[in-house]
Amino acid sequence: MRHEPSSSPTTDDDDHPHEECGIFGIFGNADAAAMAALGLHALQHRGQEAAGIVSFDDRHFHTHRALGLVGDNFNSEAVINRLPGARAIGHVRYSTTGETILRNVQPLFADFAFGGMAIAHNGNLTNAYRIRRALVRQGCIFQSTSDTETINHLIAISHYSTVVDRMIDALRQLEGAYSLIALTQRKLIGVRDPLGVRPLVLGRLGDGYILASETCALDIIGATFMRDVDPGEIVIIDADGVHSIKPFAKQASRFCIFEYIYFARPDSTLEGENVYQVRKAIGAELARESHVAADMVVPVPDSGVPASIGYAEQSGVPFELGIIRNHYVGRTFIEPTDNIRHLGVKLKHNANAARLKGKRIVLIDDSIVRGTTSMKIVEMVRSAGAAEVHMRISSPPTAHSCFYGIDTPASDELLAGRMNVAAMAKHIGVDSLAFLSLDGLYRAVGKTKRESAAPQYCDACFSGDYPIRLTDQEEGPIPEQLSLLTERE
Ligand code: SF4
Repeated sequence: MRHEPSSSPTTDDDDHPHEECGIFGIFGNADAAAMAALGLHALQHRGQEAAGIVSFDDRHFHTHRALGLVGDNFNSEAVINRLPGARAIGHVRYSTTGETILRNVQPLFADFAFGGMAIAHNGNLTNAYRIRRALVRQGCIFQSTSDTETINHLIAISHYSTVVDRMIDALRQLEGAYSLIALTQRKLIGVRDPLGVRPLVLGRLGDGYILASETCALDIIGATFMRDVDPGEIVIIDADGVHSIKPFAKQASRFCIFEYIYFARPDSTLEGENVYQVRKAIGAELARESHVAADMVVPVPDSGVPASIGYAEQSGVPFELGIIRNHYVGRTFIEPTDNIRHLGVKLKHNANAARLKGKRIVLIDDSIVRGTTSMKIVEMVRSAGAAEVHMRISSPPTAHSCFYGIDTPASDELLAGRMNVAAMAKHIGVDSLAFLSLDGLYRAVGKTKRESAAPQYCDACFSGDYPIRLTDQEEGPIPEQLSLLTERE
């Protein structure tokens, strides 16, 4: 999806960067749409604003796309029955700026010279606006504000004959981070960008095959993990099985390291590393780097839990659930009115005062974005009687925006973009504050250190070292909606 750093206010309970999309595809299963709905349900953490499935039944494509959660929209036999066929792809979406409109909800379907094709995309194209402008000049009419549609138009006007060659031709013109799944009349196609920034895995279920953002989507349907799709690889699944091609110039991979810190589900394994284990190792690194005398280690649930376990194991300080999360508060409940929003974090988190009173606590969270949630959590923990609050963050300071498919505020709204660590500690009201070092993060994912000349991961939101050119950003702010009547020059 096309993405600009967000300037919209975050809800008080929700000061985290957001993954923008999750994708799923299945080929060769009689219950393809139902399996896709289950797979998307497992990927719900990657996008809660909208969901869609397109199926193909050997004659026709069928589509259901809707705003809201997977469970609210794909929960009836009637809906699944309207998506017949043994092949399907699906998408969950988190909207960035502006309204979530149905025409932006994926998979996007279009009729091409070679037949119909649906496409689902996780990531962000960094030169899509420039290309889109050129395509509009040539007479292309865009139906959505999604950068994914740019791929469709480039495929449509390509002079190559086969769908795969057209796709390669299109992708060679595009820059950015993307994992794509496409469904044609004969094939299920999965693509990862040449740097492999966003994840994509291949799995097997009976005689069928699955492509998904994370392995947790394979687990839910009982599928077996085969392997990660390689950076720059195109996996083509058809009646003859799985074929692989690598048509792009080989580059060193730069997988998004934030997937391990926060975005991916802890039960997923990505690029050979189990996310839960990495988060525990991150906690252990934090304890080694910035241990402080304390009575208990308390996670900000749920995302701070694995790192807190790792910190507690390494430091010997007991792990306690000093904050309890209410799992029954959904975004739809919190978002609509300021009357509800002002209640803030208490809707979602409550201090376990009986455990916290008089104690020195190490409070662990995964990141600080604007700092709004951290301030309120610290205030809540102090009101519950904690004697000292030492905050430890299981990532380096997030000082830069992401342009590769994660919704982060503009850098001047990021707390770490505006202040140093001492000022941040004062701002959020803690006795001490420490972040994981960049090298500590690399150690937690199994590297000796970050190779500064050729970093092994994308870590641009911490380092400012962007591995893929930000072509559109170089030309100034991108309007959210491209008008067909006016054009930015
Ligand atoms: S900038 Fe940060 S969040 Fe974005 S892809 Fe890179 S590591 Fe991931």
